[in-house]
Amino acid sequence: MAEFVGAIDQGTTSTRFMVFNHDGLEVGRHQAEHRQILPRAGWVEHDPAEIVRRCRECVEQGLAAAGIEATDLAAIGITNQRETTVVWDRGTGEPLHHAIVWQDTRTDRIIAALERDGHADLIRERTGLPPATYFAGAKITWLLDNVDGLRERAARAEIAVGTVDSWLLATLGDGRHCTDVTNASRTMLMDLRELAWDDEMLALLSVPREILPEITPSASPDAFGVMRINGTEVPVAAVLGDQHAATVGQTCFAAGEAKNTYGTGNFLVLNTGSEIVRSEHGLLSTVGYRFGEQPVVYAAEGSVAVTGSAVQWLRDQLGVIDSAAQSADLAATVDDTGGVYFVPAFSGLFAPYWRSDARGTIVGLTRYSTKAHLARATLESICWQTRDVVEAMIADGTAAPAELRVDGGVTANDVCMQLQADALGIPVTRPAVAETTALGAAYAAGLATGFWRDQDELRAKWVEDARWEPRWSRDRRDAGYADWRRAVERSMGWASTEG
Ligand code: ADP
Repeated sequence: MAEFVGAIDQGTTSTRFMVFNHDGLEVGRHQAEHRQILPRAGWVEHDPAEIVRRCRECVEQGLAAAGIEATDLAAIGITNQRETTVVWDRGTGEPLHHAIVWQDTRTDRIIAALERDGHADLIRERTGLPPATYFAGAKITWLLDNVDGLRERAARAEIAVGTVDSWLLATLGDGRHCTDVTNASRTMLMDLRELAWDDEMLALLSVPREILPEITPSASPDAFGVMRINGTEVPVAAVLGDQHAATVGQTCFAAGEAKNTYGTGNFLVLNTGSEIVRSEHGLLSTVGYRFGEQPVVYAAEGSVAVTGSAVQWLRDQLGVIDSAAQSADLAATVDDTGGVYFVPAFSGLFAPYWRSDARGTIVGLTRYSTKAHLARATLESICWQTRDVVEAMIADGTAAPAELRVDGGVTANDVCMQLQADALGIPVTRPAVAETTALGAAYAAGLATGFWRDQDELRAKWVEDARWEPRWSRDRRDAGYADWRRAVERSMGWASTEG
């Protein structure tokens, strides 16, 4: 009897394989980082072959850590960094370029041209997304136009493109070329209502339909095939983009339920049920998940590009801390930021502003400012950016959360989570299983194969582990936020997308 479900979580900075038992508890894991390739300002790439190697290594060592064999797995779920785009040779399976990562801004001129030519409203209407460098579509355009011979080879259907889920299915699975509907909803090429590639979007971005994967549900016992591990064929029963998986892992199954994940960036996802909610305030409309042939569940999302990666920047580029965790110790040596605000708009600003011309900005410096103030301002920037997204939800009238369910790497930082409760004025809660992304992929795979009975069974497994109550006065909270908004204004319009 297979008593466990496995989940591959292929993230922006690292890959994890985790094994869960029937209680939804972790029994073992392995994690491995991969190289961030930064060829020039604004460009971020990954090596697709390295990503596959890390996945294989994590599965093998994760099983060993759990003390089980592949035959003990009822199914595997895959969840992945979204929008990151890979192109490969259909015949040999070899990648034809590095993966272009979601934070990469090299497509800003393509996006500026779409806006200039008046296509923004149509793109929003059809795909639920504002035109932005973030999404996969323009990354495909860039690859076709900049890699030697690629457009000609595309015309002969010799190449395949896809987001990381497609790449993993093609290489780790049995070679099918498909993508789940949550990943497809991040390409700017899919009709959000029809859940199919849209001819007008394909034409706007000059992407031939033949090179794209087939769109499937997010969970299914047979859509994704099998993964061969040490001679055993294990069914791959779920594929979801990471934020969608975290929504499932937090059991936000009802309309109105929301979670916020703090990793490289921040992603607040609100389940909107069968309805596509069109935000007037900079949130995306996206697919939440689709289990088998059940009706699709939609979501509203506030995507923030730089949060945990601003902490990495303090560590790697400035060297003011040795580890991400040290940001808490350094920030705790001061009571406030001394008036310093840091807007980490390294790849422009995503939700709710969508300004590709913004760049990182530190304001309010005086001779008194120290690295401790900067560390605290970095943690505060994570919290103020979350407040921006919550304010957008309130302005849209979709939700005014009474508390915020959080997860992800940054939520290990107590100082930051306390600041988050302070900046929002509502309690912040974290579940016992903080790896909700991997857990959600496992949940979806387990539901598809009957390992778990239904969503109520999964809901009952959500247990609170930590809780932060707001401490600031309303005046302090609102004055701090007003200053944050002034700092954001100053980051805008710095980069030129002309020429
Ligand atoms: P991803 O899936 O996007 O790779 P994770 O959920 O693994 O992200 O979180 C990694 C991010 O969290 C990194 O950007 C790292 O800087 C940040 N991080 C990890 N631990 C801490 C901490 N204690 N305090 C602040 N940031 C942290």
